[in-house]
Amino acid sequence: MNPRTDKQVHHRTGWVPLMDIANPSEEHAMLRELVRDFVKEQVEPQALECDRDEKFNLDLFRAMGDMGLLGLTASEDYGGAGLDAIATVIVHEELSASDPGFTLAYLAHSMLFVNNLEHNGNDSQRERILPLVCSGEWVGAMAISEPDVGTDVMGLSTTANQREDGSWVINGRKMWITNGCIDEEGTPADVVWVYAKTGINDRGKTEISTFLVEKGMPGYSVGQKIIGKTGMRGSNTAELVFENCVIPEANLVGGVGDAMIHMMRNLELERLTLAAMALGISRRCLHEMNKYATDREAFGRRIRDFGQMQRYIGESWAKYRASIYLRYCYKFGIR
Ligand SMILES: Cc1cc2nc3c(=O)[nH]c(=O)nc-3n(C[C@H](O)[C@H](O)[C@H](O)COP(=O)(O)OP(=O)(O)OC[C@H]3O[C@@H](n4cnc5c(N)ncnc54)[C@H](O)[C@@H]3O)c2cc1C
Repeated sequence: MNPRTDKQVHHRTGWVPLMDIANPSEEHAMLRELVRDFVKEQVEPQALECDRDEKFNLDLFRAMGDMGLLGLTASEDYGGAGLDAIATVIVHEELSASDPGFTLAYLAHSMLFVNNLEHNGNDSQRERILPLVCSGEWVGAMAISEPDVGTDVMGLSTTANQREDGSWVINGRKMWITNGCIDEEGTPADVVWVYAKTGINDRGKTEISTFLVEKGMPGYSVGQKIIGKTGMRGSNTAELVFENCVIPEANLVGGVGDAMIHMMRNLELERLTLAAMALGISRRCLHEMNKYATDREAFGRRIRDFGQMQRYIGESWAKYRASIYLRYCYKFGIR
């Protein structure tokens, strides 16, 4: 591809060459190389075993803190990398081409918690907590879902009531929480971004607020580590219990009833990175599919020489290429 010609075409038609979309700047290309090397040297060798044993690799996760990848979108003032949405897509795509379970734990921490705090927390919350989560000293999680409520967020039943001294008391259970526990002993996440019902607003609608619950706060514990998942086994998924859990007033995020704004601001990027994970997974599937079709022989020929196999691979390739455009055109505003 001739880059100059591509650029001219881009100006005339709005068409953007594929490689420019996936790595729109030198910084993005360098980030991709950095993560690819890390994946090859450290992620791939442990992926199968962690998947088999349903084990979250905390040391590997903390190594990402040393590389500056845990606070990808957080401000550099607090130990983050201050990068953009494309950078988050690159990291999730590259990691999940090798280990989607580990990537989900990374996503829950860096997108669902860190990015949320960066955008919705106040200065003192950011100053106190962001350096700890950007370095990997603390593992973060985010808890919306409950045993009876997933998609229907407004139906959640965990409550938070304010006491006279300003502190809050949370009661309820959260289910399917990635990083809810961080090891086999059921040690809870160091900090959880918790959504809880604080009342009914003046339009008669459920009012939901956001709280930062930290390890050691009375009444916060792990109910169970969920085992036997059919996928994402390299990440821990847990039930969290809040039983008369007392939270200082300073750990309310934003104002009372602000949670929907927090969810919408943050899920936008979380959904994009989840889609980037699908891209990494499909890239790996294509690679494995191609390799098998090359190695396997039937009727004295490689099975990739049969039309039916070529159709499977060709159609998968076309969908994969379309997915690249769908993920990365976000940056160019082509929707
Ligand atoms: C591995 C894993 C990790 C997770 N990590 C987290 C986490 O870190 N934090 C967290 O809070 N949650 C987490 N979850 C929970 C996840 O967010 C929920 O599973 C998800 O929101 C769906 O909720 P549900 O499973 O209760 O499905 P339901 O809400 O019961 O939905 C069941 C089906 O009905 C469909 N449906 C529901 N409502 C409608 C509608 N109005 N119109 C059409 N179809 C509808 C859904 O699309 C779905 O197919 C995790 C789940 C898994 C499996």
